[in-house]
Amino acid sequence: MLPEAGSLWLLRLLQDIQLAQFYRPILEELNVTRPEHFDFVRPEDLDGIGMGRPAQRRLAEALKRHRSGLKSKNWVYKILGGFAPGQKETTPPSDSLPSLPEPDGGLKCLIPDRAVCRGELLGFGCFGVVHRGLWTLPSGKAVPVAVKSLRVGPEGPEGTELGDFLREVSIMMNLEHPHLLCLHGLVLGQPLQMVMELAPLGSLHARLTAPAPTPPLPVALLCLFLRQVAGAMAYLGARGLVHRDLATRNLLLASPRTIKVADFGLVRPLGGARGHYVMGGPRRIPYAWCAPESLRHGAFSSASDVWMFGVTLWEMFSGGEEPWAGVPPYLILQRLEKDRARLRRPPLCSRALYALALRCWAPHPADRPTFSYLEGLLQEAWPPEGRCVRDVTEPGALRMEPGDPITIIEGSTSSHSPNSTTWKGQNGRTFKVGNFPASAVTLVDSPATRPVLRGSPARGERHQGNIDGDRVKVKLRDPPPGRGQRRNVSLQRMKGISKSLESVLSLGPRPTGGGSSPPELRHARTVPQGPPGVPPCSPVATSSSSQPSQPPRERPPWPKREPLHSHPVGAPGASKATVPSGGPLPDPELQKRIMEVELSVHGVTHQECQEALRATGGDVVSAIRNLKVDQLFYLSSWSRADCRRILERYQWDLSAASRYVLARP
Ligand code: ATP
Repeated sequence: MLPEAGSLWLLRLLQDIQLAQFYRPILEELNVTRPEHFDFVRPEDLDGIGMGRPAQRRLAEALKRHRSGLKSKNWVYKILGGFAPGQKETTPPSDSLPSLPEPDGGLKCLIPDRAVCRGELLGFGCFGVVHRGLWTLPSGKAVPVAVKSLRVGPEGPEGTELGDFLREVSIMMNLEHPHLLCLHGLVLGQPLQMVMELAPLGSLHARLTAPAPTPPLPVALLCLFLRQVAGAMAYLGARGLVHRDLATRNLLLASPRTIKVADFGLVRPLGGARGHYVMGGPRRIPYAWCAPESLRHGAFSSASDVWMFGVTLWEMFSGGEEPWAGVPPYLILQRLEKDRARLRRPPLCSRALYALALRCWAPHPADRPTFSYLEGLLQEAWPPEGRCVRDVTEPGALRMEPGDPITIIEGSTSSHSPNSTTWKGQNGRTFKVGNFPASAVTLVDSPATRPVLRGSPARGERHQGNIDGDRVKVKLRDPPPGRGQRRNVSLQRMKGISKSLESVLSLGPRPTGGGSSPPELRHARTVPQGPPGVPPCSPVATSSSSQPSQPPRERPPWPKREPLHSHPVGAPGASKATVPSGGPLPDPELQKRIMEVELSVHGVTHQECQEALRATGGDVVSAIRNLKVDQLFYLSSWSRADCRRILERYQWDLSAASRYVLARP
């Protein structure tokens, strides 16, 4: 019997108590690889592998001895030996403590116990408590901090908690990003304490759920937070880390306009080339935030973090509601996979942002956008800012006065009077949300709320600066028509502007034919509805195909193919694009074709065009059509086959097809 290196401890332990015959069943049937996993093993489970009760008692005692031995010997050594600058690793080899990534240069700071003074309690976590504190530097300067203390039981910190606590320290000390919570240092006292940057305004979740008279957070600010989180997550991903617990409860407000991603207790390094991390055994996981592959296989990756980002977006726009509230954890996976159900669009969330969330919730991880790509998508979905130009007092309309700042959430055409365009927006003075006549508002360019991004600059522009809205635009050449012409344009005139996600706002009259679904589509829309509170099933998953010639939507098994955007434009490997059939095109010819596709499909990126051409062997017309199908697919809940038929019906006019699908929520 050749034991796995990571479970040698188990074999030894079982041999010591003459129970070595249970090594394989425990490992393979109960999936136990670490001592902490036994916390989740019930006597019935051990009965199930044929272990009698007396043997179970022997095992329990041996485990107790094993754990207390680890505690007393290893936990302080692990820190001093592993982290203290200039010291050698003196920890006896132990496969039961987590292997921590090697720090670059030791601890950022070992802080003496007496330099930290703890104050008000900020909250409880899994490993212990967090207090507000003051850290007195050697210069005498006092810095407000948050102090997380490891909970210590009568026998010292438990293995898992210590492991996670140390892992959190180890990971945080190597991170530096304006939107990741910063670790100042560690106090090697009793208890062990992490001294962190203080986020004085607490968690975003607490802010979202704060009762009146606290005003709701403005939609534009939520978009800014999303942008900051996407940036921080892109940074984490680039360092080969998965967060695994992205949620508004773990986003902290360092200032009214600055969010920080926190809680690195579940962060793990990605497993080398495979690009994902598989959980070693039963652990707490935030079910309602998790991607299907995490729930099914315990597999986490940057793509599963992207899924969580979509859920976090949903939380933000639904006022901190609990996702899948009332649905038992074991049913969540079924809803997601079998019913293809997704969280509903919250009223505050624009269709464009919801379309982005739906992309994050693509069933196949490879089909989800990367975080850096999401930064670009967010830019496109950014709600335009306007200013009220007249009093609006009409009954039912959002009240506004001249000069009020208005964030435009959505455009729609009144069903009663199709010629009067109304828009949905938020009044920045009153924070109220409602519909108003488009003519009452003039668009303004507001760089402060609409940062221009590193990830996907508008054509012809390069950007510098920070990510909080004060980027400097550097013009390289004239932008194409439709871009950069947004100052003081009335909303009415914004309709049909050349941007995929904006074009969905331009809801014009329905196509001729009476406004009902075309007969061939009606069938596809009659899908079973889930129970109340659960989003409707997507026709993608459950409709019997309305057109047999169209194959059902199929995804390659994960992780077979690379994400579409795995090579950012300009990154190594991206510039040498070739098309598979017909051999590589010479670069100028390829560039010409990419440009042709790019100009024909609203809002697609250079890289998407390149990928589409690659997939069609360089055929421009097919690439354009496929991209249009994709655009429509992500905007709606229709299947790809339906999207293709709708586009055909509209002679491949994406704007008209978008208006059609969006007029049928
Ligand atoms: P977990 O159990 O996964 O660690 P948690 O986020 O609830 O989850 P902690 O990270 O220990 O646990 O934080 C406990 C509470 O303390 C949180 O609810 C958070 O609001 C608050 N908190 C944590 N860190 C800070 C900080 N740096 N500044 C301000 N408040 C903080």
